[in-house]
Amino acid sequence: MRIISKAGVLIINLIVFGFSAQAQIEGLFAPYDCRRHAEVMVEPVIDTLSSISLQALNPVQPELDIIIDTLNGWKDWRFVQNFQYGKDRGDMPMIVEVNALHPYFRDQIITLIANCKQQGIDLAVVESYRTHAKQSEYKGMGKKYTRSGAGKSKHQYGLAVDLVPIVDSVAVWDDKILWKRIGVVGEQLGLRWGGRWKKPYDPGHFEWTGGVPTSQLSVGKLPPIVNQEQNYPCIEDDIKLLQRYWKEWEINQSSMARK
Ligand SMILES: [Zn+2]
Repeated sequence: MRIISKAGVLIINLIVFGFSAQAQIEGLFAPYDCRRHAEVMVEPVIDTLSSISLQALNPVQPELDIIIDTLNGWKDWRFVQNFQYGKDRGDMPMIVEVNALHPYFRDQIITLIANCKQQGIDLAVVESYRTHAKQSEYKGMGKKYTRSGAGKSKHQYGLAVDLVPIVDSVAVWDDKILWKRIGVVGEQLGLRWGGRWKKPYDPGHFEWTGGVPTSQLSVGKLPPIVNQEQNYPCIEDDIKLLQRYWKEWEINQSSMARK
Protein backbone atom coordinates (compact mmCIF):
# COMPACT_ATOMS: atom_id res chain seq x y z
CA MET A 1 0.00 0.00 0.00
CA ARG A 2 1.30 3.42 -0.77
CA ILE A 3 0.11 6.96 -0.81
CA ILE A 4 1.04 9.27 -3.64
CA SER A 5 0.68 12.98 -3.21
CA LYS A 6 0.12 14.70 -6.53
CA ALA A 7 -1.20 18.19 -7.17
CA GLY A 8 -2.62 18.38 -3.68
CA VAL A 9 -4.74 15.29 -4.16
CA LEU A 10 -3.97 12.02 -2.50
CA ILE A 11 -4.50 9.02 -4.64
CA ILE A 12 -4.67 5.86 -2.64
CA ASN A 13 -4.05 2.62 -4.39
CA LEU A 14 -6.12 -0.20 -3.08
CA ILE A 15 -5.38 -3.80 -3.88
CA VAL A 16 -7.83 -6.20 -2.34
CA PHE A 17 -8.08 -9.85 -3.43
CA GLY A 18 -6.57 -8.91 -6.76
CA PHE A 19 -9.13 -6.13 -7.06
CA SER A 20 -7.53 -2.80 -7.83
CA ALA A 21 -9.27 0.49 -7.24
CA GLN A 22 -8.32 4.10 -6.80
CA ALA A 23 -10.00 6.30 -4.28
CA GLN A 24 -9.50 10.02 -4.26
CA ILE A 25 -9.95 12.12 -1.20
CA GLU A 26 -9.44 15.84 -0.92
CA GLY A 27 -6.54 15.63 1.43
CA LEU A 28 -4.77 13.64 4.04
CA PHE A 29 -7.52 14.28 6.56
CA ALA A 30 -10.72 14.43 4.62
CA PRO A 31 -13.30 15.72 7.09
CA TYR A 32 -16.24 13.85 5.69
CA ASP A 33 -14.92 10.28 5.76
CA CYS A 34 -13.62 10.25 9.33
CA ARG A 35 -11.45 7.38 8.12
CA ARG A 36 -13.86 4.83 9.58
CA HIS A 37 -11.97 1.98 8.00
CA ALA A 38 -8.56 3.55 7.89
CA GLU A 39 -5.60 2.03 9.62
CA VAL A 40 -4.79 4.83 11.97
CA MET A 41 -2.03 4.87 14.55
CA VAL A 42 -1.02 1.35 13.63
CA GLU A 43 2.57 0.52 14.28
CA PRO A 44 4.15 -1.02 12.36
CA VAL A 45 2.18 -0.34 9.19
CA ILE A 46 0.61 -3.54 7.95
CA ASP A 47 2.30 -4.65 4.77
CA THR A 48 0.32 -5.69 1.72
CA LEU A 49 0.54 -9.41 2.33
CA SER A 50 -0.59 -9.41 5.94
CA SER A 51 -3.16 -6.75 5.07
CA ILE A 52 -4.72 -9.10 2.54
CA SER A 53 -4.74 -11.99 4.99
CA LEU A 54 -6.40 -9.76 7.61
CA GLN A 55 -9.01 -8.70 5.08
CA ALA A 56 -9.61 -12.35 4.23
CA LEU A 57 -10.57 -12.89 7.86
CA ASN A 58 -12.53 -9.71 8.11
CA PRO A 59 -13.64 -8.47 4.69
CA VAL A 60 -14.60 -4.82 4.33
CA GLN A 61 -16.05 -2.76 1.51
CA PRO A 62 -13.11 -1.88 -0.75
CA GLU A 63 -14.33 1.68 -1.35
CA LEU A 64 -14.29 2.38 2.37
CA ASP A 65 -10.92 0.80 2.99
CA ILE A 66 -8.56 3.73 3.12
CA ILE A 67 -5.06 2.99 4.25
CA ILE A 68 -3.03 5.84 5.61
CA ASP A 69 0.67 5.38 6.02
CA THR A 70 0.95 6.34 9.65
CA LEU A 71 4.69 5.89 9.77
CA ASN A 72 5.99 7.28 6.52
CA GLY A 73 3.26 9.63 5.31
CA TRP A 74 5.32 12.67 6.28
CA LYS A 75 7.96 11.66 3.74
CA ASP A 76 5.53 12.61 0.95
CA TRP A 77 5.30 16.19 2.16
CA ARG A 78 6.60 18.69 -0.33
CA PHE A 79 9.38 21.00 0.69
CA VAL A 80 11.55 23.56 -1.08
CA GLN A 81 15.16 24.58 -0.66
CA ASN A 82 16.02 27.69 1.32
CA PHE A 83 16.74 30.01 -1.57
CA GLN A 84 13.65 29.09 -3.55
CA TYR A 85 12.14 32.44 -2.58
CA GLY A 86 15.21 34.52 -3.09
CA LYS A 87 16.72 35.13 0.35
CA ASP A 88 18.55 33.32 3.08
CA ARG A 89 15.96 31.33 4.98
CA GLY A 90 18.33 29.12 6.90
CA ASP A 91 20.08 25.87 6.20
CA MET A 92 17.06 23.58 6.41
CA PRO A 93 14.46 23.08 3.71
CA MET A 94 11.03 24.68 4.15
CA ILE A 95 7.90 22.54 4.20
CA VAL A 96 5.37 23.84 1.66
CA GLU A 97 2.81 21.08 2.15
CA VAL A 98 -0.70 22.22 3.10
CA ASN A 99 -1.40 18.76 4.51
CA ALA A 100 1.20 19.55 7.17
CA LEU A 101 -1.27 22.10 8.59
CA HIS A 102 -4.05 21.64 11.12
CA PRO A 103 -6.94 20.23 9.03
CA TYR A 104 -9.35 23.11 9.68
CA PHE A 105 -6.70 25.74 9.02
CA ARG A 106 -5.58 23.78 5.96
CA ASP A 107 -9.09 24.03 4.54
CA GLN A 108 -9.20 27.77 5.20
CA ILE A 109 -5.88 28.19 3.37
CA ILE A 110 -7.06 26.08 0.43
CA THR A 111 -10.13 28.35 0.29
CA LEU A 112 -7.96 31.47 0.55
CA ILE A 113 -5.80 30.27 -2.36
CA ALA A 114 -8.92 29.42 -4.42
CA ASN A 115 -10.62 32.75 -3.65
CA CYS A 116 -7.50 34.68 -4.64
CA LYS A 117 -7.22 32.62 -7.81
CA GLN A 118 -10.76 33.73 -8.67
CA GLN A 119 -9.51 37.30 -8.46
CA GLY A 120 -6.62 36.43 -10.76
CA ILE A 121 -4.03 36.22 -7.98
CA ASP A 122 -1.83 33.12 -7.93
CA LEU A 123 -0.37 32.24 -4.57
CA ALA A 124 2.49 29.91 -3.67
CA VAL A 125 3.14 28.42 -0.24
CA VAL A 126 6.50 29.60 1.07
CA GLU A 127 6.34 27.66 4.32
CA SER A 128 3.61 25.81 6.20
CA TYR A 129 4.64 23.71 9.20
CA ARG A 130 7.91 24.83 10.73
CA THR A 131 9.91 22.70 13.13
CA HIS A 132 11.14 24.01 16.46
CA ALA A 133 14.67 23.53 15.11
CA LYS A 134 13.99 25.77 12.13
CA GLN A 135 12.24 28.35 14.29
CA SER A 136 15.37 28.50 16.48
CA GLU A 137 17.45 28.90 13.37
CA TYR A 138 15.30 31.88 12.24
CA LYS A 139 15.53 33.42 15.71
CA GLY A 140 19.30 33.19 15.48
CA MET A 141 19.22 35.00 12.14
CA GLY A 142 17.79 38.16 13.65
CA LYS A 143 14.62 40.18 14.15
CA LYS A 144 14.17 40.60 10.42
CA TYR A 145 13.15 36.94 10.32
CA THR A 146 11.22 36.49 13.55
CA ARG A 147 10.98 37.60 17.14
CA SER A 148 9.62 34.26 18.24
CA GLY A 149 11.71 31.41 19.63
CA ALA A 150 11.00 27.70 19.22
CA GLY A 151 7.43 26.77 20.19
CA LYS A 152 6.32 30.43 20.13
CA SER A 153 5.27 30.63 16.49
CA LYS A 154 1.91 29.34 15.28
CA HIS A 155 3.88 27.60 12.54
CA GLN A 156 4.92 25.02 15.14
CA TYR A 157 1.29 24.02 15.64
CA GLY A 158 0.32 23.86 11.99
CA LEU A 159 -1.71 27.03 12.53
CA ALA A 160 0.26 29.47 10.40
CA VAL A 161 1.37 29.64 6.81
CA ASP A 162 3.46 31.99 4.69
CA LEU A 163 2.26 32.69 1.17
CA VAL A 164 3.51 34.83 -1.69
CA PRO A 165 1.81 36.04 -4.89
CA ILE A 166 3.36 34.77 -8.10
CA VAL A 167 3.25 37.06 -11.13
CA ASP A 168 4.74 35.77 -14.39
CA SER A 169 6.42 32.92 -12.48
CA VAL A 170 8.14 35.36 -10.11
CA ALA A 171 7.43 35.76 -6.39
CA VAL A 172 6.37 39.36 -5.78
CA TRP A 173 7.25 40.52 -2.27
CA ASP A 174 6.93 44.27 -2.38
CA ASP A 175 3.54 45.10 -3.89
CA LYS A 176 1.63 46.44 -0.90
CA ILE A 177 -1.59 46.90 -2.85
CA LEU A 178 -1.51 43.29 -3.98
CA TRP A 179 -0.74 42.14 -0.44
CA LYS A 180 -3.71 44.09 0.85
CA ARG A 181 -6.06 42.38 -1.59
CA ILE A 182 -4.78 38.99 -0.41
CA GLY A 183 -4.91 39.98 3.25
CA VAL A 184 -8.54 41.07 3.00
CA VAL A 185 -9.51 37.70 1.50
CA GLY A 186 -7.80 35.93 4.41
CA GLU A 187 -9.46 38.16 6.99
CA GLN A 188 -12.85 37.45 5.45
CA LEU A 189 -12.17 33.80 6.28
CA GLY A 190 -11.48 34.69 9.88
CA LEU A 191 -7.71 34.44 9.63
CA ARG A 192 -5.23 36.73 11.31
CA TRP A 193 -3.10 38.51 8.75
CA GLY A 194 0.53 39.50 9.38
CA GLY A 195 0.13 42.49 7.06
CA ARG A 196 -1.52 44.29 10.02
CA TRP A 197 1.68 43.99 12.05
CA LYS A 198 4.38 46.59 12.23
CA LYS A 199 7.29 44.63 13.68
CA PRO A 200 7.77 42.77 11.55
CA TYR A 201 5.33 43.67 8.76
CA ASP A 202 4.66 40.13 7.55
CA PRO A 203 2.04 40.28 4.78
CA GLY A 204 2.57 36.71 3.60
CA HIS A 205 1.73 35.32 7.03
CA PHE A 206 -1.73 34.02 7.93
CA GLU A 207 -2.64 32.27 11.16
CA TRP A 208 -5.62 31.02 13.08
CA THR A 209 -5.87 29.75 16.65
CA GLY A 210 -9.57 30.06 17.47
CA GLY A 211 -8.50 32.37 20.30
CA VAL A 212 -6.29 29.81 22.04
CA PRO A 213 -3.04 31.41 23.26
CA THR A 214 0.32 29.87 22.38
CA SER A 215 0.89 28.88 26.00
CA GLN A 216 -2.19 26.63 25.74
CA LEU A 217 -1.35 25.31 22.28
CA SER A 218 2.08 24.29 23.56
CA VAL A 219 0.47 21.99 26.14
CA GLY A 220 -1.77 20.38 23.57
CA LYS A 221 -4.99 22.40 23.72
CA LEU A 222 -6.77 22.41 20.37
CA PRO A 223 -8.55 25.42 18.88
CA PRO A 224 -12.36 25.12 18.98
CA ILE A 225 -14.02 24.48 15.62
CA VAL A 226 -17.60 25.43 14.81
CA ASN A 227 -19.67 22.29 14.16
CA GLN A 228 -16.65 20.13 14.91
CA GLU A 229 -18.69 16.92 15.24
CA GLN A 230 -20.23 17.48 11.87
CA ASN A 231 -17.25 18.73 9.91
CA TYR A 232 -14.17 17.42 11.69
CA PRO A 233 -15.29 14.39 13.70
CA CYS A 234 -11.80 12.86 13.73
CA ILE A 235 -9.90 16.01 14.53
CA GLU A 236 -8.23 14.64 17.66
CA ASP A 237 -6.93 11.55 15.85
CA ASP A 238 -5.91 13.70 12.91
CA ILE A 239 -3.88 15.95 15.16
CA LYS A 240 -2.25 12.98 16.90
CA LEU A 241 -1.13 11.65 13.54
CA LEU A 242 0.04 15.09 12.46
CA GLN A 243 2.03 15.43 15.67
CA ARG A 244 3.78 12.18 14.88
CA TYR A 245 4.64 13.48 11.44
CA TRP A 246 5.81 16.80 12.88
CA LYS A 247 8.07 14.89 15.26
CA GLU A 248 9.61 13.00 12.38
CA TRP A 249 10.33 16.27 10.59
CA GLU A 250 11.80 17.63 13.78
CA ILE A 251 14.23 14.72 13.95
CA ASN A 252 14.93 15.03 10.24
CA GLN A 253 15.56 18.79 10.37
CA SER A 254 17.39 19.04 13.69
CA SER A 255 20.35 17.22 12.24
CA MET A 256 20.68 19.93 9.56
CA ALA A 257 20.29 22.93 11.84
CA ARG A 258 22.76 25.79 11.71
CA LYS A 259 24.76 25.72 14.87
ZN1 LIG B 1 4.75 33.03 9.10
